[in-house]
Amino acid sequence: DFGGVALENGELFKKTQDLAIHDGLTSLYTKGYFLERLREECKRAVRKDEPFALLMLDTDHFKDYNDKFGHTAGDIVLKELSQNITEFLKSSNSIISRFGGEEFCVILPALDKNKGYDIAEQLRLSIEEMKIILRKQETRITASIGVTSCPDDSCDENELIFKADRAMYEAKQKGRNRVC
Ligand code: GH3
Ligand code: MG
Ligand code: MG
Repeated sequence: DFGGVALENGELFKKTQDLAIHDGLTSLYTKGYFLERLREECKRAVRKDEPFALLMLDTDHFKDYNDKFGHTAGDIVLKELSQNITEFLKSSNSIISRFGGEEFCVILPALDKNKGYDIAEQLRLSIEEMKIILRKQETRITASIGVTSCPDDSCDENELIFKADRAMYEAKQKGRNRVC
């Protein structure tokens, strides 16, 4: 019956849309969707003359985790890390994405660079304090975070991402587990 088929197609369409927006492992926003939102935030920031901060976070020495505990355990770490980030930022109207394998990108609306830096530092500490049980063994992870903001650094989404990435690499070079 055509009505039934139409309904089923509608459900499938919704599911497909959801898959395009949410990452399968962590349920965070996908990179593609996040970049759309970032473009909108840039336009809004200029129009309303209101700042926002952008964080680029990369898990430190993640390859060692996979090597030591296996890829499945690595996935569990990524899930727990995502939950921690979401929980930590839940009251901030933030937009959080899994930007790459073990990389996360966050928009913090209405925050200037200094406030964005403070939140990033608190987030870094909360990650450092996380206890993760893998194979009955307690382990910990750390992350390096790069901070940029619109309009301080740029109001162009590509340039903001580029600068956040560069700041994150600076944090790696300075010894990891820090914010730059
Ligand atoms: P650095 O401190 O320099 O960031 O070191 P790193 O080991 O984290 O960096 P590198 O980029 O060399 O390694 C990233 C690792 O993340 C390699 C890859 O196997 C792992 N990875 C990426 N995506 C996933 C995933 O979805 N699941 C698991 N388990 N591992 C992943
Ligand atoms: Mg990486
Ligand atoms: Mg890494």
